[in-house]
Amino acid sequence: MQALRCTKCRLCETRNSVVFGMGDPRSDLMFVGEGPGAEEDRQGLPFVGRSGKLLDRLMVEEMGLTRETAFIANVVKCRPPDNRDPKPDEIESCRPYLEEQIRIVDPRVIITLGNFSARLLLDTKVGITKLRGHAYDYGDSVLVPTLHPAAVLRGGGAAMANMRADLVRAKMIVSGGHADTITVEAIAS
Ligand code: SF4
Repeated sequence: MQALRCTKCRLCETRNSVVFGMGDPRSDLMFVGEGPGAEEDRQGLPFVGRSGKLLDRLMVEEMGLTRETAFIANVVKCRPPDNRDPKPDEIESCRPYLEEQIRIVDPRVIITLGNFSARLLLDTKVGITKLRGHAYDYGDSVLVPTLHPAAVLRGGGAAMANMRADLVRAKMIVSGGHADTITVEAIAS
């Protein structure tokens, strides 16, 4: 696979693994996070550290699903050193891989985790705290933004409650419920 040898951005110089994605490529549900952390870089798998354990738990509790039933990917496939934010040119370099993954999986629902994936896919600078709580059209899919589980681990009860509510909203849409979508412009105004 081309991405596994990719040198399109500087993140290739410090990575141990290209963390391309995992799960069921025919799933109706796809998660998109930010980028691999230290544990993900070691194992070559997305969301396998503390954040991933929380995501697994909330998926079971709020959606009745395990990670094997979804597809999980990130905006950048290589770890930004010292867990810094991915830079705009790195995101842009990696973007074709994510777009191709979304095209292949063709999920009913995309759940974005945190700021970077929501802003990239919704093409906006609006932050996740404003974007979450709603659903948006993304091609033939419905995009449901929620917080990054790492932010939920830091943020405590209110953040946890918000993420739970977002997962319930996504589950209803995956299950065939009506998606009451709005536009980013409506949120931004
Ligand atoms: S982050 Fe993406 S674009 Fe950059 S080297 Fe890794 S796979 Fe290639």
